[in-house]
Amino acid sequence: MKSTAIGTGAESPIAVLMSGGLDSTIVLGLLARQRGKATCRGAIQPIYVRCGLNWEAEELSAVREVSGTFGPIVAPVVVLEMQIRDLCPDHWSVTGRGVPSFSSPDEAVYLPGRNFLLLAKAGVWCQLHGVSEMAIGVLDTNPFGDASDEFFEHVEGCLLAYGPEPVRILRPLSGRTKREWMLAAGDIPLAKTFSCIAPRKGLHCGACNKCAERRRAFREAGLPDETVYYSASDPVTKPRS
Ligand SMILES: [Zn+2]
Repeated sequence: MKSTAIGTGAESPIAVLMSGGLDSTIVLGLLARQRGKATCRGAIQPIYVRCGLNWEAEELSAVREVSGTFGPIVAPVVVLEMQIRDLCPDHWSVTGRGVPSFSSPDEAVYLPGRNFLLLAKAGVWCQLHGVSEMAIGVLDTNPFGDASDEFFEHVEGCLLAYGPEPVRILRPLSGRTKREWMLAAGDIPLAKTFSCIAPRKGLHCGACNKCAERRRAFREAGLPDETVYYSASDPVTKPRS
């Protein structure tokens, strides 16, 4: 099983690209655990990129809450803007219409240019602020092309070729399953994470693709799901990818 050691060491500042969900929060928690004895305040920098998507208010709130649970080693969240509404004004992520339901396949939740845009913006921020490593919570089961080895190698190459400082992109969740990472989470506050693409009154809707994934993840890990869902419908019938 792959080591959980992340990055080059406790003395180098490292950024974590946050979405507020289980995966990026586990990455942040692993780093805080690994480097927790370091004396450098703010050595771990959470970054959230706001794109104009319908669920971002709830997501960012979760990012700020979970980031605040790991002590002074985690810096206040940096929020960057990367609006995509002009790119795809009719997309469900912007309009809120036709949001993939709990029975939709994983491929239904693809967001145009997602990782390319996020990594470009956050990567340049890292270059400008002397941060040489940036971690992202991508699992090996991610079905999209912008989560492939080739993609990340290309983005790293771009950041190296263009900028004054290289930025390594780290994928510390690679090599284990989501279930394994959740079981290794320990005191990482999984219940405070947010992973819904159709929130209702500030809550997980309980009926969208990502709520289904979340409920299934807790179930498969054998962990209690303390999430408050707006809808009581059980989406566990969603087919596995
Ligand atoms: Zn939902």
